Amino acid sequence: MRIEFRKITSNASPFEIKKSAFISRGTFRKLSQKLVELDFHLYAPAMLVCDRCGNEYLHEMDKKISLKVSDGAFEGEDLDVIEYFDHYVDFDAIMLSEIEAEKSDYHFCPNCKNQEITGE
Ligand SMILES: [Zn+2]
Repeated sequence: MRIEFRKITSNASPFEIKKSAFISRGTFRKLSQKLVELDFHLYAPAMLVCDRCGNEYLHEMDKKISLKVSDGAFEGEDLDVIEYFDHYVDFDAIMLSEIEAEKSDYHFCPNCKNQEITGE
């Protein structure tokens, strides 16, 4: 899903994207001429390999995310702004990059997580 920056208003508009890789629901609204804010819940099940034991397991990413997207270069102090240069907000690309960021983080399977907690 892609939406043109100029069509986004300051009223929060709901969106929902359902794909095989993720489900995302939330709202988007314009904060200023060139800045759009997205607030959403992202659910993404994925098979990951545990960084500790090497076993594959189902990791269910399930979290609330809030981020800002800028139409062109962003000249402010907020470092977490995603810049787009074609005047469109690409929702799918945003979701996929959030999922990739989560996957590239260290992650332990449920077994290893339990061992961390109990200290066995
Ligand atoms: Zn493990």
